[in-house]
Amino acid sequence: MRIEYDIKLGFKDVMIRPKRSTLKSRSQVTLEREFKFLHSPLVWKGIPIMAANMDTVGTFDMAAALAEKKLFTTVHKHYGVEEWNTFTSNIPKAYYNYIAVSTGISRSDSEKLKGILQHMPSLQFICIDVANGYSEYFADFVKRTRENYPNKVIIAGNVVTGEMVEELLLSGADIVKVGIGPGSVCTTRVKTGVGYPQLSAIIECSDAAHGLGGQIISDGGCSSPGDIAKAFGAGADFVMLGGMLAGHNESGGEIIERNGKSFRKFYGMSSSTAMTKHIGGVADYRASEGKTVEVPYKGEVEPTIQDILGGLRSTCTYVGAARLKELTKRTTFIRVNEQENQIYSE
Ligand code: 5GP
Repeated sequence: MRIEYDIKLGFKDVMIRPKRSTLKSRSQVTLEREFKFLHSPLVWKGIPIMAANMDTVGTFDMAAALAEKKLFTTVHKHYGVEEWNTFTSNIPKAYYNYIAVSTGISRSDSEKLKGILQHMPSLQFICIDVANGYSEYFADFVKRTRENYPNKVIIAGNVVTGEMVEELLLSGADIVKVGIGPGSVCTTRVKTGVGYPQLSAIIECSDAAHGLGGQIISDGGCSSPGDIAKAFGAGADFVMLGGMLAGHNESGGEIIERNGKSFRKFYGMSSSTAMTKHIGGVADYRASEGKTVEVPYKGEVEPTIQDILGGLRSTCTYVGAARLKELTKRTTFIRVNEQENQIYSE
């Protein structure tokens, strides 16, 4: 046994220090970024915020709404080839740059991925997603996927430490997804004791990835636009959101009416709700590692996106970053013991 004594930080442990700036207005800030990838020849332009591949977040409806604004969706893995066919035949080709097909690492997952990409070869992004990205089998799966799809952009995760980011990038991933345990409907830290505070995970993993020419996604734990700004400030190239995009028209999830109020069901992909829905129950050798909650119905996702992007532009003006790309360089975090004043709630 060994203990690391330096304290790892989460979003709640820091704030971003304001800096003198020449920017006059938030409207001068551009949030679009352009990325070249480590393996894929694709060049991507857009706003690097992503909807999570959960079936109560990363739906086709969400993908269409976010692509319209040049934001990205990792579409959940439970749609069949036919459903993909119908979806892609109804959207402009330009949207394809903002959509990833998600897959697990079982044989049936990779067969389905093959079917989808055979029918729709213009789809450019593959998201290989497992809860625990530390297994040798996972890295081998990434390697095989890279051999089969040399030109696609491959996202792989989740991990939280630099050495594993490097291993996945060297195995063929272009972008590594970072986060174990911070998610709003995640119970991994409670069930297993395993995890890593997200801000430190981003700082350490982005350093490792950027050293090799790769990118990272900060996945999970953002509960406000300020957290998204902190994730970018810490070095994330992309930020993935679950709970913040749940509960909208586009999100999916059963609608529940109670006492004249509407809610939408939102659950973790390792919750017993998800496992019952997709694989007929929780296998007898494992525990549920996700919550099932009801979130207040929030209407269309568009105003939420505007709120997030407005907050982010404002962060950039506070530190003098004319482009989102400059935010990390201009960020100084201060350690704090307080966040917002909670005397009133909206
Ligand atoms: P949020 O933005 O809601 O805080 O986090 C979303 C992320 O939580 C997802 O992208 C995914 O990585 C993670 N997640 C989703 N479902 C589960 C689950 O059932 N268990 C765990 N451990 N993590 C989950």
